[in-house]
Amino acid sequence: MTPSTLPEGLHPETLAVREATARSHWGEHSEALYLTSSFVQTDCESAARRFANEEPGYTYTRTANPTVASFERRLAAMEGTECAVATSTGMSAILLMALTLLKNGDHVVASQSMFGSTLKLLGSEMARFGVETSFVSQTDVQAWKAAIRPNTRLLFAETPTNPLGDLCDIAALAEVAHARGLLLAVDNSFCSPVLQRPAELGADLVVYSGTKILEGQGRVMAGAVCGSTALVDKVMGTFMRSAGLNLSPFNAWVVLKGLETLGLRVRAQSAAALELAQWLERHPEVAHVHYSGLASHPQHDLAMRQQGGLGGPVLAFDVVGHDAQQLRAKAFHIIDSTRVCSITANLGDVKTTITHPASTSHGRLSEQQRQAAGIGQGLIRVSVGLEHLDDLKADLLRGLDTLA
Ligand SMILES: *Cc1c(COP(=O)(O)O)cnc(C)c1O
Repeated sequence: MTPSTLPEGLHPETLAVREATARSHWGEHSEALYLTSSFVQTDCESAARRFANEEPGYTYTRTANPTVASFERRLAAMEGTECAVATSTGMSAILLMALTLLKNGDHVVASQSMFGSTLKLLGSEMARFGVETSFVSQTDVQAWKAAIRPNTRLLFAETPTNPLGDLCDIAALAEVAHARGLLLAVDNSFCSPVLQRPAELGADLVVYSGTKILEGQGRVMAGAVCGSTALVDKVMGTFMRSAGLNLSPFNAWVVLKGLETLGLRVRAQSAAALELAQWLERHPEVAHVHYSGLASHPQHDLAMRQQGGLGGPVLAFDVVGHDAQQLRAKAFHIIDSTRVCSITANLGDVKTTITHPASTSHGRLSEQQRQAAGIGQGLIRVSVGLEHLDDLKADLLRGLDTLA
C-alpha cells in the first residue's frame, strides 16, 4: 500500500476527502473496500511477529482492517484527536468506553437528557456491574460539579440533546472534570466535527454514533470513540481485540465515503432547519420550537459559539394542547399526515425524518424520566434533509392545518 503524503495543516474540508486514502498497487482513486475477515501471511516467522505486535501488518479483521483504519484515521483527523477506534454502532462505542474506563465501584456523572439507550445502558445495564451513574441537569454546570463523588471517574455529556437541542457547555464541563482529575467524554453524534470539535474545547473523549449524520444516507450503523493514543489506541484498541465490538469493513467504507460530503450536507441541512424552525414558530398550532439556531433558544449564544454558528439539522416542536391525550392525538395527526417526510427514527439523513419521541426513541423510559428530559406527548422531532423547503413546509401543513 502507498501511504498518503498529504502536507500538514490541511482544513477539515480537505481532510474529509483526502485523509487516509492509502492506495493499493492498482492505484485506485476511490478508497478500496477490504471486505475480508483475515489476511494471508507470507511465512510463519512473519505471522508470529505480526500476531505479537512486533511487526506492522494485518492479521485478522477483529484486530485491524485497512478500510476500518482509513475511516478511523479520517475521523480522528477531522475531529482533531490523535486517534479513533471504530465500533459496530454508537451504542457499542459507549459500551466500549464504559467497559474500558469503569469498574465495579466507580461512579459516572451524566446528563439526564441523553439518548434513550444511553440512559438505559448507564442507568440499568452498567448498574448490574456495580457502576453507578448520577443523572443531572443538561444545562446546569453547578449540578454536575455537585454530583461528583470521591469514586467518580467520568463525566459524560451529549450536546445538543435529542430531541430538544439543549446544550452542555463543553469548555466549562472540561474545567470541572480536569480540576478533579476526571475524564470528560462528549457524544458528538448530532453536530459532527463540522460544527463542533469537543476535543478542542477540552473533552478527553469524543463518542459517535456514525449511523446518524456522519453516514448521512441511512444505510449502515457505525460508531467510534476519538481521543488520545494512550487511551483510545492503547486501552480501547487492545480491548477490542478481545471484545469484538468491531465495525464491519463494508460499513466502514460506506461511512468513510459519507465523510466526504459531510460538510456540505451539515451546512445545507442546518440552513434549511433554521428556516423551517423560524417558519414553525409563526404557526398558531405550534406552542414552542426547540432549536438552538433560533434567537429564542435560551442557550443560543453558547450554541453559536460552540457549534460554529449553526444549529444542526434536528429541530423539535410542541403542538398546542391541554392534556397528554389531546397532545398525543394532535402530534400523531401531524406526523401521519405527511407524505414526503419519513416516519422513522434515524436522523441526520438527507431524507427528512419525523418522529414522536415520547412513543418511540424515549418510549422505554418511565413517565418520570421522560418528564425530567422534557419530552411531552405533543412533541414532534424533525431531522431536516435535502428536499426543497417548500415541499417540507407543505408536508407539515397537511396536518397542522387540518387539526380537529
Ligand atoms: C443514535 C444515537 C446513539 C446510538 O447510536 P446507534 O448507532 O444507534 O447505536 C448514541 N448517541 C446519540 C446522540 C444518538 O443519536
